[in-house]
Amino acid sequence: MISTEDLFGKISNLPPKYGWQAGGYSCRCIRCNDRFQGRKRASECADCAYDETIDRSPPTKEDLELWNKMLDDIIGKHNEK
Ligand SMILES: [Zn+2]
Repeated sequence: MISTEDLFGKISNLPPKYGWQAGGYSCRCIRCNDRFQGRKRASECADCAYDETIDRSPPTKEDLELWNKMLDDIIGKHNEK
């Protein structure tokens, strides 16, 4: 017999947190890539949202500089055409 978990992935009734929201859609977690049952645009499973070991600190100045450089490269290449 196929269980509900096979159809929708992991199920949780925990309150919303970060990208996790309970619901009836089959979603895929951006962090662990597991299927889970959640709200239509939920991006991560309850396991990951409630995993306090995951680093959720905001990007550093270095991260932002690297990101801006990457965007400049993309835009620069686009403008050369
Ligand atoms: Zn996950």
